[in-house]
Amino acid sequence: MPKSRLSVEWLSGCSGCEFGIVDLHEKLLSVLDEVELVRMPILMDTKEYVEAEVGLITGSIRSEHDIHAAREMRRTCKSIVAFGTCPVYGGPHSSAYAQSREELLDTAFCHNPSTTTNTAPTDVPALLAGNRPLDSEIEVDVYIPGCPPHAAYIFDGLLSLLRGTENKIGQHNVCYHCKRKMVKTEVTTLRRAYDGEFDQDLCFLSQGCICLGSVTLDRCLSPCMSVGVPCFSCGGPSEAIAIEPQKDVRTEIAQRMSHLTKIPYDTIVQEIEQQAKSHFAYAMASPIFQQKPTFLLKKWIRASDKEGGRA
Ligand code: SF4
Ligand code: SF4
Ligand code: SF4
Repeated sequence: MPKSRLSVEWLSGCSGCEFGIVDLHEKLLSVLDEVELVRMPILMDTKEYVEAEVGLITGSIRSEHDIHAAREMRRTCKSIVAFGTCPVYGGPHSSAYAQSREELLDTAFCHNPSTTTNTAPTDVPALLAGNRPLDSEIEVDVYIPGCPPHAAYIFDGLLSLLRGTENKIGQHNVCYHCKRKMVKTEVTTLRRAYDGEFDQDLCFLSQGCICLGSVTLDRCLSPCMSVGVPCFSCGGPSEAIAIEPQKDVRTEIAQRMSHLTKIPYDTIVQEIEQQAKSHFAYAMASPIFQQKPTFLLKKWIRASDKEGGRA
């Protein structure tokens, strides 16, 4: 059987998703049994856009070059995969959402103690007004969020796409693989992830620390909680948050945590708003979040910045 051709392109991102592919280790050989890699900037010096059955795109739409590259990939590839949280939801560099392009360039190049030029560079692709997911520019056929997606999900996703078989990847949230127990406690005060030690068997929410596992899609096999770090939702929203307009991260977490502890609902809501830049970092560029009735992110971030908040 002839091999399917696979073309890869990266837009604005960190290259972590390419390392996610390399993390397949020997499983990569099984994938390469079925595909001919015709383009992959991290491995091959191919500038041209080559005809392929599958086009895999990492990174988001943040510059003029990203628009050009995304359109070329759509023109030359039969199916397009948005690979990673960046192309699916915008990714972590969406946390510049509350600032204009001019404010960003001014801060980075003009009023910065580590630069001396005081002008923004002009010989690089122009920055767009904001950061956007891939499907704001081209049609996408398959979405694989994750920052980066875990090798197990990459393998299953790629093989089912190449073989044209049904993708059986589950839609669990991060709590599904977490070993911590969600129990009711007498906790009355909020703590942040770096505020002292936490009981390693108990759910972070039960201990007064915000963990976004219950509102996050598992595309990582939930590694963070087992090493003492709450989930900060780098995989993007859970299925419920993504498809149900009335469900939002702030309300869901505040309801769950106020039920598990003695911390008042309003106190938790206030904390989430104050730390909005962190709690919404990975998907704030996505219309899924921006269309929620409670999404007032610019207002929350500006208020927190004004107070010198720790968000
Ligand atoms: S999804 Fe995460 S790992 Fe992948 S390019 Fe974006 S920031 Fe990097
Ligand atoms: S909220 Fe966090 S700590 Fe609690 S069960 Fe879910 S993933 Fe684990
Ligand atoms: S932050 Fe959450 S979604 Fe990201 S790797 Fe950790 S557990 Fe998974």
